[in-house]
Amino acid sequence: MGSGGPTARTGRLRSVGLLAAALDLLLPQRCAGCGDADGLVCPVCAALLGGPARVCPPRPAPPGLPRPWAVAPYTGAVRQVILAHKERGRTGLARPLGVGLAAAVLAAAGDTGCPVLLVPVPSSRASMRRRGHDPTLRIAWAAAREAAVRWGVAVSVSRALAQRRGVADQAGLTAAERAANLAGALTVRRDVRGATVIVVDDVITTGATLAEAARALRAGGARVPAAAVVAATRRYGDAPASRDLGHVP
Ligand SMILES: [Zn+2]
Repeated sequence: MGSGGPTARTGRLRSVGLLAAALDLLLPQRCAGCGDADGLVCPVCAALLGGPARVCPPRPAPPGLPRPWAVAPYTGAVRQVILAHKERGRTGLARPLGVGLAAAVLAAAGDTGCPVLLVPVPSSRASMRRRGHDPTLRIAWAAAREAAVRWGVAVSVSRALAQRRGVADQAGLTAAERAANLAGALTVRRDVRGATVIVVDDVITTGATLAEAARALRAGGARVPAAAVVAATRRYGDAPASRDLGHVP
């Protein structure tokens, strides 16, 4: 295998992700949300992630979608913070995003009355290679820490889901096309029988990804009454989603 083979390419991609994370620590920072203020994320932009959480079902909602809670619309500074964390390796943003996700998780858990088990939607191998990290898992860990430290609520995180097969890029697909693209794509890899699970992601768009995650967890014997995300897109009917949503599982 030459220097341009898949292994070398994978290594370079991972290095790009690590380099971005290292630079994030070393260079003077501008707020990832507004780009104006100093620091990782300024108080004004951080406040946008502070909740309160709301139920944010997409319309139409896919069959089996757990009740989804979010703390912000996926626009403006919130969208910029999520994309900087996910696509530009600013891994320090997991903490403020985790604060937002924790608010959504606690609201979602209020419905269940059970110990809180978070299961993040898994990234595809291709996304992991490209990004150099698993952004949803990182935010889920941060949310669990926030829930424990600030709210005294024990929240555990389980990587109970895995991708069973590759899926096409979701961007630009209608809600129906997304659901077909994802059907059967996920499977459980941990024993979740009898568990009450809140499935988590950074963004809800059509709800197809969260519905497929819930289907797989339920097939494994879990209850999945609710989902928690940081942000929800505004959608209208079955129109194609914007190509720049930046949300690929
Ligand atoms: Zn800002």
